[in-house]
Amino acid sequence: MTILNQLLKVPKRHTITAALPYANGPIHLGHLAGVYISADIYARFLRSNKEDVAFICGSDEHGAAITLRAKKEGKSPKEIVDIYHSSNKEVFEKLGVSFDIYDRTSDELHHQTAKELFLELECKGAFVKKESEQYYDPDFKQFLADRYISGTCPKCNAENAYGDQCEKCGSALSPTELINPKSTLSGKVPKLKKTTHWYLPLERHEKWLKDWINKGDYKGETLHDVKTWKNQVIGQCMSWINSGLQPRAITRDLDWGVKVPLKDGDGKVLYVWFDAPIGYISATKKWANENGKNWEEYWKGNDTNLVHFLAKDNIVFHTIIFPAILSELEGFILPKNVPANEFLNLEGQKLSTSRNWAVWANDYLNDFIGKEDVLRYVLCSIAPENKDSDFSWKDFQARNNNELCSIYGNFVNRSLVLTQKYYAGKVPGLGELNALDQNVLEELKEIPKQVEKDIRAFRFRDALSSAMSLARLGNKYLAETEPWKLIKTNPERVKTIMNISLQITANLTIIFEPFMPKKSTELAKLLNIDLKKWNNAGKENLISEGHQINNPIILFTKIEDVDIEKQIEKLKSSSQKKSKFSPMKDEITFDEFSKMDIRVGVIKAADKVEKADKLLKLTVDTGIDIRTVVSGIAEHFKPEDIIGKTVSVLLNLAPRKIRGVESQGMILMAESEDGELSFVSPSKAIKAGNTIR
Ligand SMILES: [Zn+2]
Repeated sequence: MTILNQLLKVPKRHTITAALPYANGPIHLGHLAGVYISADIYARFLRSNKEDVAFICGSDEHGAAITLRAKKEGKSPKEIVDIYHSSNKEVFEKLGVSFDIYDRTSDELHHQTAKELFLELECKGAFVKKESEQYYDPDFKQFLADRYISGTCPKCNAENAYGDQCEKCGSALSPTELINPKSTLSGKVPKLKKTTHWYLPLERHEKWLKDWINKGDYKGETLHDVKTWKNQVIGQCMSWINSGLQPRAITRDLDWGVKVPLKDGDGKVLYVWFDAPIGYISATKKWANENGKNWEEYWKGNDTNLVHFLAKDNIVFHTIIFPAILSELEGFILPKNVPANEFLNLEGQKLSTSRNWAVWANDYLNDFIGKEDVLRYVLCSIAPENKDSDFSWKDFQARNNNELCSIYGNFVNRSLVLTQKYYAGKVPGLGELNALDQNVLEELKEIPKQVEKDIRAFRFRDALSSAMSLARLGNKYLAETEPWKLIKTNPERVKTIMNISLQITANLTIIFEPFMPKKSTELAKLLNIDLKKWNNAGKENLISEGHQINNPIILFTKIEDVDIEKQIEKLKSSSQKKSKFSPMKDEITFDEFSKMDIRVGVIKAADKVEKADKLLKLTVDTGIDIRTVVSGIAEHFKPEDIIGKTVSVLLNLAPRKIRGVESQGMILMAESEDGELSFVSPSKAIKAGNTIR
């Protein structure tokens, strides 16, 4: 087949996958903007265009992060995934994310599928088996999965990076790369011990992957136009490939997951990165079984458009590792595109679930009932399509009030209200068209084409902005023609204006359906019409003369300052609760610790230090001498109140001059989360000079 034919080929069906959310936590706005809203717009548009779509998602329920969380909360892994599977599923439903199936990888059919595909690959010699040394926790008598090891990231120096990935900089890591590795089970330094695993030798795939990613070429055919792939996706792939692909272990020593279906695979499961993308295939199987479809067409048909939606931390798994697996399996196709998004920041800061710097979808849905589509609208407007973007509550409010209320809502409301007022809700007939009318109808025809073009190219922000231009057009048309004035002088002309306004309104229901499905349905109800398919978009006769519309209600309501302030306050206070405590400092040896000479002391005198509001000059009996210590506690204690106090003193701190007074040591203080200070003293009476260790 020639390149041209291949590129012109219209796909018969679409398999659209959205990254499987990990079932150990709730969904937040970053997930939605990064993956699910874009994927849903794409799927909804194609369905509206009467194309065959399988929109696949589900919970990723395996992996060590889940067993780890279960251990921490004293629950079983099953209990953890049950909680998050059902709550995340509910969030997607409420937001109108229209998955054809929301499956789960703990499902029996998935286990069976993953085992079958593993065995097919094993039979073909697609793996290599080898012995290696891996971290082992002797206290817990178990090998440590990557997530059970934490340490300092060798790339960005962030503390608490995991053995497979640093969440701070997104680098993929292997446990042995971590600086100062620690077992998260015992907190101790893990030991290296021998174990055997199956590896996917990615280096065997390097050459074809390079051609496929750079040129779209695979086995003598051009499968896709590389110009349709995002630069950052190709860039990330090439940086991986150019640094040399390494064999990647696809099994783990763990008891939660898909068991390795071989005799010598006892105590081992498939690695979650091998098992999760296969989850797309098993979910498609399940959906096909339940809907009388043939799943193989959706994964093996050359006329199938396979598209993976995900965020940038997932790119290489879908462009290198999963394609390497698919290429070894009999008959499977490769993705046509992987339109990965970058990250969404929050109020100018990186979103962080560990610091609770996040807006949780569930909280939003509870606080903004009926405003599900507003969130979809805003997240699409600011989607991090080509670079990181920022969500702020003020911007959210502005987009709702100034765009949805003032433009879309205002136009729709005017055309419905005036039709009620002038014609008792009966659509008036179209009269003679003037130049303005003709221009407006011409634009009406063009806008859906632009929206479609942008959606097909994964430019959802542009597509939404084009869709919004139709509402702007309507708003401008009414502002220029002023039917509320003309009604007195030229009522015939007003009929034409109102007819055109209602046609634009009816068109809004179609072209906004992928973006704001609930509002489109509501608006169609107000117009008393069925929600029409995409092939009707741009038509100037969607509603006929004499058609009775319903009484208008307001589609979008303003969001008040107090509601936004509440959200900002909530974000700040909930993030502080979790971030108050600083992370642990770098490990020190016992020798380093024992160099510190800390002793019990008694304060003999306390005086203010001149021109220093925070400092007190303390005279301390250390048992071996009487010395001066300057301490920053003047705002917390009156000098007269602390004389006679038993305290802890670090004696061998190098002396230094503070405000002209030489301080010989340091008094240890405990500080509460509100910044209140208290002395650290022995719980029994112990004389000055006794050591603290
Ligand atoms: Zn890092």
